[in-house]
Amino acid sequence: MKKIILITGGSRGIGAAVAQQAAEQGYTVCISYLHNQAAAEAVVGAIRRKDGEAMAVQADVALEGDVVRLFEQVDAAYGPLTALVNNAGVLAKQARVDEMDSARIQRIFATNVVGSFICAREAVRRMSTRYGGAGGAIVNLSSRASRLGSPGEYVDYAASKAAVDTLTIGLSKEVAAEGIRVNTVSPGVIYTDIHASGGEPQRVDRVKEAIPMKRGGYPEEVARAVLWLLSDQASYTTGTTLDVSGGR
Ligand code: NAP
Repeated sequence: MKKIILITGGSRGIGAAVAQQAAEQGYTVCISYLHNQAAAEAVVGAIRRKDGEAMAVQADVALEGDVVRLFEQVDAAYGPLTALVNNAGVLAKQARVDEMDSARIQRIFATNVVGSFICAREAVRRMSTRYGGAGGAIVNLSSRASRLGSPGEYVDYAASKAAVDTLTIGLSKEVAAEGIRVNTVSPGVIYTDIHASGGEPQRVDRVKEAIPMKRGGYPEEVARAVLWLLSDQASYTTGTTLDVSGGR
């Protein structure tokens, strides 16, 4: 069966690493992105140069209409989806809860939580045997922040990732008998651009001494966990969380 994967936020960081490894494992790849078309096209170009099949679609996961269009574009280009990685995620400038306004919190939740739910909905409608699908697998990107809380930095982001953890638990049980496995990968601190959007590009190096392995992680290390959970090697694994966090 043709393996077709959609990775939201695949233009950079962890999503881009998942896209590369998925292509190497024979998946036909669709990545979505928000603004950075050049980075998305670079990921697609790298896959195509190695004879892989890939495309990039601009779609804001926080907008339901964009998500519906994104999945329709995958249907039209490649056919039925077999794997979804809910990877697109954002955080805002480091702040305490008593400094946050509603617009900020809603933006974080719209992308990280509502976006993951709506993408999961569209995937289930295509994969579930209940809808005539052939099954599939979903991996949601959470964060160790969901259990550490991120005090003084972004409790809103941490709380949004706790919602993602619970999405995995509940959805995995809803669709377990319909041929779909749903799991979470929970990274620790990984070298990507996301820390710059929190206002501290060098954050990984600042906090790495608090990590038992005394180093930050790399996107490729997270991607390997995602690909394992999507694979048949994980055929009896659903509703679980795999921490990729150097022991923290
Ligand atoms: P990143 O380097 O900041 O990349 C974010 C990606 O998401 C980009 O491709 C971006 O597209 C896309 N994106 C952002 N908002 C979007 C939206 N509304 N709709 C669609 N796409 C959107 O992030 P990352 O560090 O790789 O993080 C990936 C995931 O891992 C996130 O869910 C994050 O919370 C989680 N995570 C990361 C770390 C870490 O330390 N890096 C730790 C724990 C969890 P553009 O390129 O177009 O902007």
